[in-house]
Amino acid sequence: MNEIGHFIDGARVAGTSGRFADVFNPATGQATARLALAGRDELQRAVDAARAAQPKWAATNPQRRARVFIRFVELLNAHMQELAELLSSEHGKTVEDSKGDIVRGLEVCEFVIGIPHLMKGEFTEGAGPGIDMYSIRQPVGIGAGITPFNFPAMIPMWMFAPAVACGNAFILKPSERDPSVPMRLAELMMEAGLPKGILQVVNGDKDAVDAVLEHPEIGAISFVGSTPIAAHVYAEATKRGKRAHTFGGAKNHMIIMPDADLDMAADALIGAGYGSAGERCMAISVAVPVGEATADALVQKLIPKVEALKIGPYTDTGADYGPVITKASQEKILGLVETGVREGAKLVVDGRDFRMQGYEDGFFVGSCLFDNVTPDMEIYKAEIFGPVLSVVRAKDYEEALSLPTQHEYGNGVAIYTRDGDAARDFASRVPIGMIGINVPIPTPLAYHSFGGWKRSSFGDLNQHGPDSIKFWTRTKTVTSRWPSGIKSGAEFSMPVMR
Ligand code: NAD
Repeated sequence: MNEIGHFIDGARVAGTSGRFADVFNPATGQATARLALAGRDELQRAVDAARAAQPKWAATNPQRRARVFIRFVELLNAHMQELAELLSSEHGKTVEDSKGDIVRGLEVCEFVIGIPHLMKGEFTEGAGPGIDMYSIRQPVGIGAGITPFNFPAMIPMWMFAPAVACGNAFILKPSERDPSVPMRLAELMMEAGLPKGILQVVNGDKDAVDAVLEHPEIGAISFVGSTPIAAHVYAEATKRGKRAHTFGGAKNHMIIMPDADLDMAADALIGAGYGSAGERCMAISVAVPVGEATADALVQKLIPKVEALKIGPYTDTGADYGPVITKASQEKILGLVETGVREGAKLVVDGRDFRMQGYEDGFFVGSCLFDNVTPDMEIYKAEIFGPVLSVVRAKDYEEALSLPTQHEYGNGVAIYTRDGDAARDFASRVPIGMIGINVPIPTPLAYHSFGGWKRSSFGDLNQHGPDSIKFWTRTKTVTSRWPSGIKSGAEFSMPVMR
């Protein structure tokens, strides 16, 4: 079986901890590789290489640093098909969807090509007599990123593109479920001209994360994953004085007003609810039609569309979505569907008996649609992270607004309406980080920033966009005065500022 180690100091290296985990093809359920799980020793080697390389990289002028990303973007485009297939073979999503995963990361690399401009500081001429004041942004030093399984290309690039462009050395600890694309990204960055030691990949599980959290030389940590781990990483990092921003789970609602274009809303719900088997942090998992007539009409439109969804392995170009990531995840999702039935929700499309012919050991989950879900139910409260959509009926706009408002998560939300006033009121009042108006998955583009509210995010700066430049740099403010001896001769009295 193929063995995957780490990417340290410019090369692939074998693990030394003696611990391994299997990497699976979720469509077949077969292990395809053995992944080395790092401990403190491997992390220390990466930190040593980072420490040696980072000062020179930070001193490389920003245009030259940007040029590495220009070449890297070209390489990503040239290797798109190969990377997408590799990604799908470990994640299970369709190849087209994997290309979306890569392109959304590539766009962050395009954004940081502007790093000479993005890192420019501020200058005040004449802050006092003969005094100028300026602020500069300097890299933090050595940063680390810990990423989830569901976007193994995009989320590592959210982090390493701004971190590296700002002049940091960056150590990536990717998800142990799908590590191959992150390893390839590091190789391609080297091919694009990045010096060794600046982008490294240390594979592993909790042990590797603990080593990152405890390492005194790692100054900033970016994390994306589930909420309990996001809360843990934030607390552990900040209590050691590290800079951290950590992003967690979600339960994204879509409000459907009585005046909405129902066909448009139903199509949007299918893509946003079931695309990538529902394993997106911006997936819509709750539909909230306003009024009984809207709810009845919406559910009637959804049922045939959900029943018609085509599930398949990533090699099937006609598939709408593929398997979920692990057997444990498949069991958890099916367990939650059982819970929903027990709690009294109406399972109007039942995917529990779905079997993928020829792929009986794959981690497939049939599409499920629940109606009459209520906020006290476990299936409403929990992030299911599978192809399961819940309809919660609201009697009016205020009740609909109260649902995402009161939910513990606050990542994304959408409203479908033809009424600009309702949309405007909603966007203003709902306490959620990313809002879609007749847009189902309002994932901001690279030059804006991404982040949720409430228990979907900890820390105060978002991913990518201008926030990321702030996160990966520290501000230094210089107050300067130059003696005027040569210009105006000697001065004997004490200069004072008025
Ligand atoms: P996860 O929390 O299980 O894993 C994320 C990372 O944390 C992985 O690298 C993993 O190795 C590490 N990890 C796992 N357990 C750990 C522990 N006990 N201690 C330290 N580190 C640990 O998440 P996942 O299953 O890979 O990803 C799915 C989750 O990520 C979902 O909840 C999803 O909503 C969330 N997510 C959020 C966003 C966002 O931007 N808010 C984006 C994508 C995914």
